[in-house]
Amino acid sequence: MYLKDYHLHTTFSDGIDTPEQMTEAAIEKGLAEIGFSDHSYISMPSEIVYWKGKESEPLYKAEIARLQEKYREKIKISCGIEQDYFSDHAAEGYDYIIGAVHFINAGGILIATDEPPDYTLKSLKHFDGDIYTFTEEYYKLLARVVEVTKCDFIAHFDLVTKYNDGGVLFDENHPRYKRAWRAAADALLETGKPFEINTGAMARGIKSGAYPSVEIIEYLRSRGGRFVLNSDSHKKENLCFGFEKYEKLL
Ligand SMILES: [Zn+2]
Ligand SMILES: [Zn+2]
Repeated sequence: MYLKDYHLHTTFSDGIDTPEQMTEAAIEKGLAEIGFSDHSYISMPSEIVYWKGKESEPLYKAEIARLQEKYREKIKISCGIEQDYFSDHAAEGYDYIIGAVHFINAGGILIATDEPPDYTLKSLKHFDGDIYTFTEEYYKLLARVVEVTKCDFIAHFDLVTKYNDGGVLFDENHPRYKRAWRAAADALLETGKPFEINTGAMARGIKSGAYPSVEIIEYLRSRGGRFVLNSDSHKKENLCFGFEKYEKLL
């Protein structure tokens, strides 16, 4: 079994459990390794905010260091960060970095890429009212996420499909959508960085499958892409959610 989970959120960003509660739950589940990856700080104006102030960063690092020491015999703990494309300072002093695009910059205001359909439909005014333009803008940014965030692996590749089960927002077979994700995939494959298979939205009952879609996983794999499996848990119950279903794809 896959006994690692390197994408966890805590009360240091938008998670509901403390790092210690997450650690104890991970030990109980028999995990051998975990990595914390709370959200990086962004100072740009944003419609949606789920990070803490700058002052929480040293407290977060100190708390993870305390847990590494306290639970050293029981579990390997790493201190990471989910570094957003629009974070205003480079991620420094972390064991690893997850690179993510949660926003598109629309004239100086950050528009979220993974909010419910009514939000996304309202945001289309920034994209000529065209959902495919919105997805193209997302993948244009994602294509550069390794370069910009200096990440070790790429988070939730097709995040814009979060609320798109059944094609309610757009057709994932549309030529423009396919062209957009393939261009990002090709650019990111060149970096050699692994892609994340992320069961977070599935655990929350929003999506029927993991990110990215099976079609994208197959595309990446056939071109030498490598993968890591993560739960993107925001609460302890979701640690390693759905891993039994996806570990065979690694
Ligand atoms: Zn994320
Ligand atoms: Zn996350």
